[in-house]
Amino acid sequence: MWNKGKGWVPPGFLGLGFLIFLLQLGFSFSEDVIQFPNYTTGETGVLVDGDWFGIFYNDERFSGAAGQDILMWNFTSNPGEIIAFAAGNAPVIKEDNAITWSWDQDIVKIDFNGPLSIDVAIWLVTVDAVKRLNAGDFEYLCWHASYIWEVEGRGLIINCLPPVDVTGRKMVDGGGRPLNDDFGNPITDGRGHPISAGAYYANHPFDCGAGELARIKQVAHKPQMLNVYFTHEVASGDVIAGSSYGLWCQTIPDNDVIAMGSDTDITVLSHEIGHALMNETGHVDKISVDDDSCSIAECFFDRMNVMHGASSIRWTVTEGQIFRAFYNQDGILNQIYGIGPGGSLNHPRKCGTWIETDKPDCPPVQKRLWPDEGVNGTTWPPN
Ligand SMILES: [Zn+2]
Repeated sequence: MWNKGKGWVPPGFLGLGFLIFLLQLGFSFSEDVIQFPNYTTGETGVLVDGDWFGIFYNDERFSGAAGQDILMWNFTSNPGEIIAFAAGNAPVIKEDNAITWSWDQDIVKIDFNGPLSIDVAIWLVTVDAVKRLNAGDFEYLCWHASYIWEVEGRGLIINCLPPVDVTGRKMVDGGGRPLNDDFGNPITDGRGHPISAGAYYANHPFDCGAGELARIKQVAHKPQMLNVYFTHEVASGDVIAGSSYGLWCQTIPDNDVIAMGSDTDITVLSHEIGHALMNETGHVDKISVDDDSCSIAECFFDRMNVMHGASSIRWTVTEGQIFRAFYNQDGILNQIYGIGPGGSLNHPRKCGTWIETDKPDCPPVQKRLWPDEGVNGTTWPPN
């Protein structure tokens, strides 16, 4: 507006506001940036919370090529959160108090800290478990577990300790007296002599009952880590599952126990460790359609996923599952290995196996930053 003799007159309040709004539209093209000063070797991906023009976005997905910053939208106000993933690294969380989204370009630096490593104690309880070790199956089981959680799972090394043959250890307490069975009867050879763990478990399916766990921990146990007992058969309560099944015992303080039948598929150890990491006894096939034709519209997983309940082709894990493995406060990294509260990760969350996309604590379990291979040449795309 030009008035004679007065030169330019500022526009009215509404007009000025509109001018600022246009400028802000301009600023929105200078995206917010995430930089990774100490990581240049592989792709990076983030799930981001923030407000953009008054609308809240939860777990919005962005990714970047190796050595590149991630360019995002211009998030304009909090609440904010960034969960960052990269190969070979534990995921990193930046919470709301470490982020300030503004109308300007915001630059966030994230340092990855490499992988975490956990030791797992391995006990060979029965003769068929020892045979399996000698046949070389055992190394492949442990290799697969570490592959799933370190390489595919981005940054958790599963370090199986050298297996210990305990088949000859007697079923006795600290004073050398025979242990009792679930009915209170001493476990003996019939002439009052204690028998070995190998002899007992050859004919006794391992279950997660309190009596069973007390007995096996007398035979062999290392504190503050997962203990995997390779035995003949496992049972769930009174139901014998057999030698091709594994078990994770969820009830604290026995959530450090996994039992493996002597004839399990090679992918079962990584699966049982997955139960323990996420503190979740359910299977992903329960929240999908359990067959090979399961389409993306109908479900989120197939038998390629590590937490499928019946599979011999478990090779993938989603970022939603990885997040739970590291950060679920009831998982074993927090509860047994002390990596959570006060530990090196220190952002424990309360996660369930939910598929909803709007929950603040944890992304949905099916969240993928990168495609996962599916059955029969299919692909589960990022979501
Ligand atoms: Zn299972």
